[in-house]
Amino acid sequence: MQATDFKNKKVMVFGWARSGKAAAQLLTKLGSKVTVVNGGEFDAQDATYRSLLAADVTLIGMDNAETLDSTYDYLIKNPGINYDHPLVQKAEKLNIPILTEVEIALSTFNGRLIAVTGSNGKTTTTSLIRDMLKADGQNVITAGNIGVPVSEVVFDLTREDILLLELSSFQLLGLPDIQPDIALVTNIFSNHLDYHKTRANYVAAKFHITRHQNANQYLVLNADGQDTEKFKNETEAQVLEFSRTKQHFPVAFSNGNLTLTDEIVMPTKDIKLVGPHNQENILAAVTVANLSGVSKPAIREVLKTFSGVAHRLQYLFTVGDVKYYNDSKATDIEATQTALDSFDCPTIWIGGGLERGDDLERLLPNLKNVKAVIAVGETQQKIVTLAREAGKPVIAVTDVEHAASVAVQLASPGDVVLLSPAQASWDQYSSFEERGDNFVASLKETLNS
Ligand code: ADP
Repeated sequence: MQATDFKNKKVMVFGWARSGKAAAQLLTKLGSKVTVVNGGEFDAQDATYRSLLAADVTLIGMDNAETLDSTYDYLIKNPGINYDHPLVQKAEKLNIPILTEVEIALSTFNGRLIAVTGSNGKTTTTSLIRDMLKADGQNVITAGNIGVPVSEVVFDLTREDILLLELSSFQLLGLPDIQPDIALVTNIFSNHLDYHKTRANYVAAKFHITRHQNANQYLVLNADGQDTEKFKNETEAQVLEFSRTKQHFPVAFSNGNLTLTDEIVMPTKDIKLVGPHNQENILAAVTVANLSGVSKPAIREVLKTFSGVAHRLQYLFTVGDVKYYNDSKATDIEATQTALDSFDCPTIWIGGGLERGDDLERLLPNLKNVKAVIAVGETQQKIVTLAREAGKPVIAVTDVEHAASVAVQLASPGDVVLLSPAQASWDQYSSFEERGDNFVASLKETLNS
């Protein structure tokens, strides 16, 4: 699609989240006549609400959504809303094209596009690529699933800028025409099958990232991943692979070094990020950075200092030879297994959170290096049972704030203190960010007192 496709068009934006607001704002700039449907209540004090009203945008509630009729040219759907929603179905029956916020935004951009998707590691890899491009002096803007709607940033970009997008499978599903200069798929596990119904649908959504790429463009794939062969066989783009287990790719970890076409970039021990999964994220990011012409010193500078995205196995600090990590984003068992497997030194593990009926026993094999367990949250009792079964000392406390101060007392030189709850945060906190921030604040307070 092109930006001119929206001039003088009648458009309904379905969803009053940040991306819906950004889409409405961008569409008014492109000359559309916009109606926004909000499933909840409008806040009259909200600055965007006021500015959209002033720009002659019609703001309606769900009860007025039936005004959608064949006079509309497009329906813009929030990626979280399923295609079987009645309003979306109605648009389909009326033959109104259903578009997404990112799709409109991309229609206005003609610079270089790098797109990152995958089941896990998207934000970490995207952040690494961004920092490497910046360290190299390139103009890069990140947007998408990383937290900033593309529509918010795209209007001010020029042909000289690089747009680096993190894209979820939901977003990709609504991007049938995307054509990145470089596409990266970090890995594909069986996520979000409640939404996509089958793994085949999920993989097909991910494939959108390369469907329209041509032979001048690049697709970066994880050679250890499950669907790599399918992507390799079906893409037109030039494929570059990375692998943690196979050695014959341009970017590799070999003999204690990170190497790029057999030249040493840096010793592995100088890299701040920990964990085998982060090694994969590094290989992926360096492959993309190298394709973008980033120099070795710029790559080195980033990897020496990048200590993880906040709340994702994030290295915090070392005090009294104890290393502290915040992995509050670990809201499922797999993430905590990954975190626990990242350390081969004595670990004081803080776990527990929202009760969702998970089988926490699955963590048993991952407790090898755990020297003590601190159990918190709604699933506290399950964590206590797990620790006892593993023969580990366990202390139950109310929340992560108390857990932080207990962990500081328990730790001795050479230990790691790790918050990795394996459960969502909503039993006690409004978000995993709040849980992680409170943990870090309490650690600092205890360590300074
Ligand atoms: P995403 O943006 O895809 O959710 P993040 O970079 O935010 O991924 O990481 C979230 C969690 O996913 C991490 O805390 C870690 O447990 C896990 N993870 C990150 N990278 C990988 C990877 N390459 N392979 C497997 N798991 C990973």
